[in-house]
Amino acid sequence: MKFPRLLVLGVLLGAVAGYVVTGGTAEKSDLATPLQAATVAAASVVDGARLLDDVRTLAADEFGGRRTGTAGSQKAQAFLQRRFEALGLKPFGAAHAQPFAFTANKTAYPSAVNYVGYIAGSALPQRFIVVSAHYDHLGDKGGKLHPGADDNASGVAAMLAIAQWFKAHPPRHTIVFAAFDGEEQGLQGARAFLAALPFPKAQLALNLNLDMVSRNERNEIFVAGTRYNPSLIPLVAEAAARSTVGVKLGHDLPQQKGTTDDWTHSSDHGPFHQAGVPFLYFGVEDHADYHGPGDTFARIEPAFFTSVANLLVDVAATLDANLK
Ligand SMILES: [Zn+2]
Repeated sequence: MKFPRLLVLGVLLGAVAGYVVTGGTAEKSDLATPLQAATVAAASVVDGARLLDDVRTLAADEFGGRRTGTAGSQKAQAFLQRRFEALGLKPFGAAHAQPFAFTANKTAYPSAVNYVGYIAGSALPQRFIVVSAHYDHLGDKGGKLHPGADDNASGVAAMLAIAQWFKAHPPRHTIVFAAFDGEEQGLQGARAFLAALPFPKAQLALNLNLDMVSRNERNEIFVAGTRYNPSLIPLVAEAAARSTVGVKLGHDLPQQKGTTDDWTHSSDHGPFHQAGVPFLYFGVEDHADYHGPGDTFARIEPAFFTSVANLLVDVAATLDANLK
């Protein structure tokens, strides 16, 4: 994730009986009506030990900070291959691994690789929800290892937890799970995925992007993207009401520059937005270890992270139950 450190006040969901959309435009509803009862109980469904173990593995020294094109990145790819197979995710294409080439800062990255799998939908198999999280990070920088535990081993682990849930509770939509490479080099993995999409982008119902979801001093997480699609707010609010984590709407108001910090293009949801695909991006505000060597597994907050993962499973299930 890339954005300058800046705090912003957002709309806290669940703190009020209703919710208010300011500046939202009237639009045709994307929702099935009436709102479907959520399929997830408020209680925890995520395997917390597995969740933490996935982050510990990806953020380990031997993965070298997972910079695109490095040996550490290849270890991360082998890990993703094992996990996608263990979860029984079908390859989205010829194989889970989807290599792509790009150039950034005059350096060619011939071995960038996205990992993409899916679970076929029962009711709407031709409508796709893409759950994404980038697995690359900064690697060795200035002679120091940047392990990228929060950014973004945490999002990958949460994405795998969502896949685990849908394996046991088959979805209505086809759910695509995308571990993107090259995010830190300019959202390259997401761009490559969309460029090679084997069906019209109009079949993408939503991108649920996860980037930095495992630590916050205020027990809060932001969701960006509802400004563009206010009809998503009641779905997020429903899951947020069941969560022990504070969920705030915001960071998607470009017209408020100076008072807010716009995250619309800060991570892999950006290219989806540019392609006209609705998105929800979940992430915490920057912390002292953002893009630093201190972004370690030891500084993950297990209780917060597990609560967020449960929230994200609930959000994904609620979206699947209600989106058309
Ligand atoms: Zn990131």
